[in-house]
Amino acid sequence: MLYMSSPINALLEGFYRDDITIDTLREKGDFGIGTFNNLDGEMIALGGRFFQLDLDGNARPAEGGMKTPFSTVCHFQPVLSEEIAMPLSHEAFTERLKGILPSDNMFYALHMEGRFRAVKTRSVPRTENYRPLSEATERQKIRQFQDVEGHLVGFYTPSFVPSVNVPGYHFHFIDKTFSAGGHLLSCEPGHLDIRLQIFFSMELTLPKTLDYLTASFTRDAKKDLEKAEK
Ligand code: ZN
Repeated sequence: MLYMSSPINALLEGFYRDDITIDTLREKGDFGIGTFNNLDGEMIALGGRFFQLDLDGNARPAEGGMKTPFSTVCHFQPVLSEEIAMPLSHEAFTERLKGILPSDNMFYALHMEGRFRAVKTRSVPRTENYRPLSEATERQKIRQFQDVEGHLVGFYTPSFVPSVNVPGYHFHFIDKTFSAGGHLLSCEPGHLDIRLQIFFSMELTLPKTLDYLTASFTRDAKKDLEKAEK
C-alpha cells in the first residue's frame, strides 16, 4: 500500500509540524521520501534505512522520534524494470521518463540505481510555520554532484490530485555511500537500472492539528508546486 502521511496542501499553507514519527513511517514502508518538521532537511528511505539530508546535503540516519509533516512511503516490491543504458541529458532523461509508465493515471514508486554524470539537488532551510512553501524554497541551497554513483527514490502522482501529492515525478537522491543527497532538481544519468511498483490504491492520513482542522484551502496547489518543487 502506498502511504501518505498528510496531503501536500497542508505543507503549501505553511503547516510544517505534524505528529507522525519516523517510527510510524517504518511501519508503513521501507522506501520513500518526505521532509521533517519545520522543513528541517529532506528525507529519503531506502531498504528500511531512513536518512535526513541537511541544508548542505549531508546525510545522517534519521532518528525514530523525529517527526514529519509530509512523507510518502511504501513497502517496495517492484513489478517492472527498465534500463537507461547510455548517457542522457536532463531533457532526454525527462523525455524518457514520460514513456516509462504503463498509464499516467496510476501511482508509482520508482527506484533508479546507477551512475550519473551530474546530479543537482537542493535542500531547504529550517522554516517556521505559516511561511508559504514557495517562499521557503526561494532560500534553498543547491548541491552539485559530478560522476557519482547513487540512488533516486521517488514517486509518480497522477496530475488530477495536486492537493494530495506532487503531480508527476518527485525524486530524492542519495549517493552510493549514503553520505549526501537532496531533493532532485536535475540529473544526467550515465547508466541506470530502474525498478517500478504500481499502486491501485493508497492510504492518506489527515493531520489532527488545529491549523489543519480550521484551514480553508483555497490555494492553487498545482501552481504553487510548480514553483516550489521543480
Ligand atoms: Zn522533495
